[in-house]
Amino acid sequence: MGFKIIAIDGPTGVGKSTIARQLAEKLSCLYVDTGAMFRCLAWCWCKQGCPESDESQEKLGEETRIVFKPENVICNGTDVTEEIRKESISALASKISSFPLIREVMKKQQRMLVEEVRRSGSYQGAVLEGRDIGTVVFPKADFKFYVDASPEIRAKRRLLQLQECGEDANFVEILAALNKRDYQDQNRKVAPLRAAEDAVIVDTGNLSATEVLEHLAACVGE
Ligand code: C5P
Repeated sequence: MGFKIIAIDGPTGVGKSTIARQLAEKLSCLYVDTGAMFRCLAWCWCKQGCPESDESQEKLGEETRIVFKPENVICNGTDVTEEIRKESISALASKISSFPLIREVMKKQQRMLVEEVRRSGSYQGAVLEGRDIGTVVFPKADFKFYVDASPEIRAKRRLLQLQECGEDANFVEILAALNKRDYQDQNRKVAPLRAAEDAVIVDTGNLSATEVLEHLAACVGE
């Protein structure tokens, strides 16, 4: 098969990033974290005082420059790798991702990025993770996956992650924030989070990260 496009969608905290990054590496594909793109926009939006007019949304989408380095994300010249992971930015990203104009600009940029990489010939394909990759951005992707796990399992994993980093964390608060983002992502009018009809559904609840990776790689024929 030539250049392949692999879409991995799913809710917040399900481990998509780890899965997508590892799958991309295994298949010599470019890894694209579309959530980080929305997070960068949210970071800029916050700096601008969160204006909501159509004009300012369009401007925000078109003027934000995002560069992915192997380990860092650069937004308008600033290294935002850590800052965009903050809870306040997660909430803002979920909010701006419901703005139709922002989604339109992101869709175009994601398609352009993949097209450039396809032409460059430097990768075997692209693995994109997000919420609407298989449904809206690349409805004709070669492979589509929808990874899922119950909110309680996702919140528990997040709690462990935070505790390992020595951060103060509360299960009930994490679960509430996660349920809120799920609700916003699933119920927005444009490109809501849902599995594409032809996506392979993967419940990661009882699987280790290695088992999930092996399952996806087997589906792709590796
Ligand atoms: O995946 P991550 O949690 O980093 O994404 C941050 C937010 O960006 C999500 O809560 C979601 O609202 C939004 N998003 C989206 N579409 C994507 C990727 C992310 O709406 N393709």
